[in-house]
Amino acid sequence: MENIFGKNLAELTELVLGLGLPKFRGKQLAEWLYKRSVTDFQQMQNLPKDMRNKLAEGYVIDRAARVDQMDSGDGKTSKFLLNFSDGSGVETVLMRQPYGNSICVSSQVGCNMGCRFCASTLHGMVRNLTPGEMLAQTYYINDLLAKEGQKVDTIVIMGSGEPLNNYDNVLAYIRLLHEDYCLGMSYRSITLSTSGIVPNIYKLAAEELPITLSISLHAPEDELRSELMPINRKYPLADVLKAGRDYGQSTGRRVTYEYILIDGVNDNLKQARELASLLRGQLASVNLIPINPVAERDWRRPSLARIEFFANYLTEHHITATVRREMGNDIQAACGQLRNKHLDQ
Ligand code: SF4
Repeated sequence: MENIFGKNLAELTELVLGLGLPKFRGKQLAEWLYKRSVTDFQQMQNLPKDMRNKLAEGYVIDRAARVDQMDSGDGKTSKFLLNFSDGSGVETVLMRQPYGNSICVSSQVGCNMGCRFCASTLHGMVRNLTPGEMLAQTYYINDLLAKEGQKVDTIVIMGSGEPLNNYDNVLAYIRLLHEDYCLGMSYRSITLSTSGIVPNIYKLAAEELPITLSISLHAPEDELRSELMPINRKYPLADVLKAGRDYGQSTGRRVTYEYILIDGVNDNLKQARELASLLRGQLASVNLIPINPVAERDWRRPSLARIEFFANYLTEHHITATVRREMGNDIQAACGQLRNKHLDQ
């Protein structure tokens, strides 16, 4: 049966009209699904019984089911392995930050980008997620937080998958998040993270949505970047940086460049210098992420002194740089690791 969860108001209206029902029923349906977060058509009390039965005969409200959960020792980070009705699982992470509750959402089941530092790609990509499945991850956590009188405040689409390779579904999800009848989130509270799918960065800029774009850079020169991220062979550094610069100029939004710090691989003075020179004059900032060791690869995080040195070098050369707060190391917050544990089992 067709999943109704994730349809926007226009689609729901079309659906009720198709069932021979008046247009306003579409709005009521949207409110039950997204404002009241009900998971059973029979709970939609202001809809006639006949309509509820018709809906139940043709549709399902497909939400995500928790398979596993890990909480960090400090209780601030929780990682959930959520399954959809076909048995596919994705990870979604809740980070309780000082500025609010942030969640990291997956956009594909697995990933085929092959980034060497990432556990999500080790089993390849199974399929794209639908807007409803991305929304189901969001609602799973929002419903948990609602019990504490809280909500999801910011979203990063940075879990498993390359969101710009699932472009239409990701955009439909983002637009739905913003709707008043859904979570009414400001576009500014949403960040999309890409490994650098250049044509779709331009396409995204043309949408004129004030979301934040985050680009994974991880190396300041092509040879190393191609080694760490095979996509660099298709879209090399210069093209990615140009697309990022153009995105910043056309949207007025600061682009964030993610840079995973790996001991002895991309953390030396020459590389800091090259990175500073690449980003000089851009409306950009750098987010330094000390690597979460992946069991399958032999990489270590740099020493604290090394991390500070790299960050300070950038700052002294007028590049805004932050070091990502180390959240959830004790629960393997690096994406893909919890799912892999279950796949391996
Ligand atoms: S880092 Fe992102 S794009 Fe790269 S393999 Fe992992 S999930 Fe895919």
